[in-house]
Amino acid sequence: MHIDRIDLYHVSMPLISPWRTAYGEDHVIESVLVRMVSGERVGWGEASPLAAPTYSPEWAGGVFQVTRDWLAPRLVGRDVSSGAQLQQLLSLIKGNPFAKGGLDLAWWDLHAQQLGQPLYQVLGATSPTVTVGADFGVQDTLDELLARVGAAVTAGFARVKLKFRPGWDLPMVRAVRQAFPNAVLHIDCNSGYRLEDAPLFQALDEFGLAMYEQPLANDDLLDHAALQKQIRTPICLDESITSVDKARKALAIGACRVINIKPGRVGGLTNAVAIHDLCRLNGILCWVGGMLESAVGVAHCIALATLPGFTYPADIFPTRTYYVEDLGEPEIDLLGKSQVTALDRPGIGTVPNPDRLGRLQKQHAVIVPSKP
Ligand code: MG
Repeated sequence: MHIDRIDLYHVSMPLISPWRTAYGEDHVIESVLVRMVSGERVGWGEASPLAAPTYSPEWAGGVFQVTRDWLAPRLVGRDVSSGAQLQQLLSLIKGNPFAKGGLDLAWWDLHAQQLGQPLYQVLGATSPTVTVGADFGVQDTLDELLARVGAAVTAGFARVKLKFRPGWDLPMVRAVRQAFPNAVLHIDCNSGYRLEDAPLFQALDEFGLAMYEQPLANDDLLDHAALQKQIRTPICLDESITSVDKARKALAIGACRVINIKPGRVGGLTNAVAIHDLCRLNGILCWVGGMLESAVGVAHCIALATLPGFTYPADIFPTRTYYVEDLGEPEIDLLGKSQVTALDRPGIGTVPNPDRLGRLQKQHAVIVPSKP
């Protein structure tokens, strides 16, 4: 497939209310939309690392720049016939998985369109339906959190994830567990703790949580392996797994029993599928995470989550949970209790709304082959 041109759109998407986690508070989600052109066809990808380098070392302004100056020029004007080849062409540039992921996702959308098939089928899945969970960031009060969790449980969400940070920790989990003794619950610590906090995680064991997501530093494996030996609850790694190689090493040293796979964080769908396969081979539970992307990025996450190894509900949310309007269309809706479905259209079937793209855009760049 010949790559004729790549457009980048750095956008800022306002949230209905701030998203509070162990690394801070986001009022907008900053993303980089990638438009990849091959002949008559256009594929879309999205890199959503947030506005500041607080979740990982990457940030939307940096992703825009490294993609414009270093990554996209390595693809335009070339024939790229597989995700593996695309990754190979980008491999000279170290790190920057979100930036590489935006390009990889756009390639997969284009590729599936070229085959005339929905992306989930091209990835090898047989059913378009995905089970999703409900997530709750740090709220103003415990009563507010309990009311929201109650609404999610009543609505039939298959599991509930709670953001967890100093000051919003063990008493919060105790209150939720007492109110909902049978709900599937887990916490996400977003790398807010250190190995010295092991007693806190030992004390949490009694609440029967499904997992502790990323308790320790964002780039750590060794301390997670040490912590896992001291607690009963499985550790799930999110931030630490930035590549297939990191996943392999994490499993080799017992750093986790669960992996949250986000296409952006691992450099795209090519690597996300490889990590899914690695988890299946090793009997490791995995599930699909999200970065509050627009419907474009979410459509890729849905396609990924249709694969058979993803047996724990995904972090995929209906648009209206976080946004007044979605940059992408169609927006994401639940289809039945705790479920979403991939679209029955070639590719991801989702594109940015042109008016909203214009309104929310901070920067735009065009990358075409340089003249010989
Ligand atoms: Mg997480």
